[in-house]
Amino acid sequence: MSKLDLVPTVTPSLVASLRSAVDPSRVLTEPEDILPYSFDGTAALKVKPGAVLFPLTGEEVAACVKLARAAKVPVVTRGSGTGLSGGSVPLEGCLVLCLAQMDKILEVDEKNLTLRAQSGVITKDIDDAAGKVGLFYPPDPGSMKISTIGGNVAENSGGLRGLKYGVTRDYIMGLQVVLADGTLTTLGNKCVKDVAGYSMKDIFIGSEGTLGIITEVMLKLVPKPKARKTMLALYDSMEAAAETISAIIAAKIIPCTLEFLDRMTVGCVEDFAKIGLPTEVEAVVLMETDGHPVVVEEEAAQMMALARQHGAREVRAAADDAEATRLATARRSAFSALARKRPTTILEDVTVPRTELAHMVKFIREVADRHKLMVGTFGHLGDGNLHPTFLTNERDHEEMHRVEEALEEIVTETIRLGGTVTGEHGVGLAKKAFVKRQLGEASYELMRSIKRALDPECLLNPGKIFDL
Ligand SMILES: Cc1cc2nc3c(=O)[nH]c(=O)nc-3n(C[C@H](O)[C@H](O)[C@H](O)COP(=O)(O)OP(=O)(O)OC[C@H]3O[C@@H](n4cnc5c(N)ncnc54)[C@H](O)[C@@H]3O)c2cc1C
Repeated sequence: MSKLDLVPTVTPSLVASLRSAVDPSRVLTEPEDILPYSFDGTAALKVKPGAVLFPLTGEEVAACVKLARAAKVPVVTRGSGTGLSGGSVPLEGCLVLCLAQMDKILEVDEKNLTLRAQSGVITKDIDDAAGKVGLFYPPDPGSMKISTIGGNVAENSGGLRGLKYGVTRDYIMGLQVVLADGTLTTLGNKCVKDVAGYSMKDIFIGSEGTLGIITEVMLKLVPKPKARKTMLALYDSMEAAAETISAIIAAKIIPCTLEFLDRMTVGCVEDFAKIGLPTEVEAVVLMETDGHPVVVEEEAAQMMALARQHGAREVRAAADDAEATRLATARRSAFSALARKRPTTILEDVTVPRTELAHMVKFIREVADRHKLMVGTFGHLGDGNLHPTFLTNERDHEEMHRVEEALEEIVTETIRLGGTVTGEHGVGLAKKAFVKRQLGEASYELMRSIKRALDPECLLNPGKIFDL
């Protein structure tokens, strides 16, 4: 029996006090109401909570955390539930705080280039609000039309533009956080420079709801690039595609996007999106550069030439903005397109140094073939982040066993190459078994000691990232 089997669950008396702290209609307890909150985007993980509550303000979150703490009931925070590592999967009978209704953009400050928002705001709405005043919020996870900004901070999410613009962490200037004892605190500010004490906000970025509940974010915005150019290069070999990427970087060009889809993924995406992608190729690379129009033209011409020199069968530029958006949208739909093939989709997130990419893609293919598994691989070629996606059936135990064996081999090879088991989806439950192996004893224990210091009673998302 694990320690977590013994934790108290939501009782009628806790429900009554929660209903006096917030509008009673925002506390769900009926089985049919709470069922949709028993899983996230991760395959084969489902646990029923005791109650689901929808707070509207940081103060309400703080009040609910205090009540849950008094009853010693664990709290699992949830945004949109698009996570791919099981981070917002509840513990049996726990309290789920779903922040999706905390969806107000509070301020766009054009003079300080910041945006303040509640943590349930949808990621794309942040970028759209910035865009209205000629500004730009670059992190663009594939799920940006549905994920929340709080979820993005909690997972330190990356996106298609990560190569040039970085990830969510690079845009966090401040956070409002509810601590495990229910204290509401503000960390960070609008200052570009601030070295007063430890950078506490950074501890909460990527902490997967285990250290505190993020209720507000203050984001850095940047001027919107004046121009962008999107191109597509088609390859008969993955090695040639990877060589092009190395050549582009070596030419001192940092494109905003360098994405790839393998043959299986291109086939599924074309089947799904019907935008005329060629399916008889080993790799399709989506390249985008943005910035000043003159620089964009120059870089685009150079990138297309480099792609041809390194064996691209065909290179084409999007005719206009609409086609560019169609191509990027097609790439964003890779996961959904693959998911249509078989009942269960297991999407991995291993990341290796850029120079090891071609080897890793080949390795994944060989492992899948050896274990007789169906896999499509796509990902962020520019930053070494791969998404081998196993198309399987969780009811077929024998096949699931082969998937587990294949994943074990992929993780072992990733760590051997100096990579990481997760480049953007977080540890949650899905990667928990591997994280100590990657980090080593000392850094793993350091992480656990931070958890113990900030959440001594282990009430916030216990059992995620590591065992207690
Ligand atoms: C189709 C698809 C494409 C995706 N593409 C990408 C991608 O390109 N890049 C990428 O990085 N990820 C991607 N993801 C994964 C996922 O969308 C991100 O991890 C996202 O940030 C999760 O946001 P969410 O609001 O759905 O959070 P949830 O899934 O609800 O929660 C994720 C984790 O964050 C915690 N959490 C949520 N909100 C808060 C909060 N306010 N305070 C504290 N903790 C909180 C939860 O407890 C959980 O541990 C994709 C997922 C899907 C389904």
